[in-house]
Amino acid sequence: MSIAHSPPHTYPALSYELFPPRTSRADEGLWRTIRALEDTRPDFVSVTYGASGSNRDTAIGLLMRLLDETTLKPLAHLTGVGNSRDYLMELVDELISRGVRGILALRGDRPQDLSLPAGDLHYASELVELIRQVERQLTAHLCAGKVAVGVAAYSTKHPESPSLEHDIEVLLAKQSAGADFAITQVFFAPDHYRRLLRTARRAGVEIPIIPGVVPFTSVRRLERLSELAGIEVDATLKDRLMNADDDSARRRIGVQATVDLAHAALDDGAPGLHIYTFNEHGAALDVLDRLELSRPPVPGLSQSA
Ligand code: FAD
Repeated sequence: MSIAHSPPHTYPALSYELFPPRTSRADEGLWRTIRALEDTRPDFVSVTYGASGSNRDTAIGLLMRLLDETTLKPLAHLTGVGNSRDYLMELVDELISRGVRGILALRGDRPQDLSLPAGDLHYASELVELIRQVERQLTAHLCAGKVAVGVAAYSTKHPESPSLEHDIEVLLAKQSAGADFAITQVFFAPDHYRRLLRTARRAGVEIPIIPGVVPFTSVRRLERLSELAGIEVDATLKDRLMNADDDSARRRIGVQATVDLAHAALDDGAPGLHIYTFNEHGAALDVLDRLELSRPPVPGLSQSA
């Protein structure tokens, strides 16, 4: 994985989030999306993981197919909640041994059902430490090379957190534990990313903080996002989407709003963009087209060709 270790370059990093499919029909659609996204030569694609590991096998299956059948570098999301330390160590060992070189270390949402086990780890920073521990044990005989470890960041504060300042302390703890980069939760206003970046830098967070953006193409998606992330929907954008004449007008409005947000984040110094695709490539590619994001040249191809 190149995010944290390559020298600074002029090309913003580009990555996409995918989730493991639940049905064979969804799997076919996902693979059409994967092939379309592969053409844009992203730095990595991330694969989500159910809290407590509910979809462990499908997630690992997708990661392995990405490694075996594509040119893409997968970043495996991993949640600590609900599992024992030993279980997580084995899982990290398996991921690294099978070729995964990037892990997004997350706590995951705690189960609502209090009778379910809470697990051995309390916070994501402990999972970062655990991954580094397994990596050290493995590299001695596997020569695995360094694994890039990412973490979550919140520009409008984590729903359980008392304040943004507390979240920055948490991000600092993740950095100290060995995180290489962070990806933000969805946000709606350019000010939110700018504030996060400035506050984090002032507090001593040095790792890249990549803004996570979503193509805002439907009111339903907007509402679902706000539910998932515990943030308020942008009321103006919601009104504009609701009052649009048809789906194609809605899509134009949503894509433009995402492009504006991404432009603002890049102007503020974002090191790249992480696009939450919801396993659909159309709107993500529309965002990219309008952004005109510069990409590194294809090795071996002359620039004038
Ligand atoms: P943490 O960093 O542990 O934070 C959780 C809470 O604990 C926060 O309120 C924080 O302020 C507090 N906290 C942390 N450390 C301390 C400490 N030392 N002392 C006191 N308080 C502390 N969820 C999934 O289930 N699967 C996924 O694949 C997934 N992918 C995600 C990808 C991204 C980019 C993001 C931003 C989120 C993702 N999530 C995913 C959601 C995430 O699991 C939830 O937001 C979860 O509630 C918190 O995870 P975390 O890693 O931020 O936890």
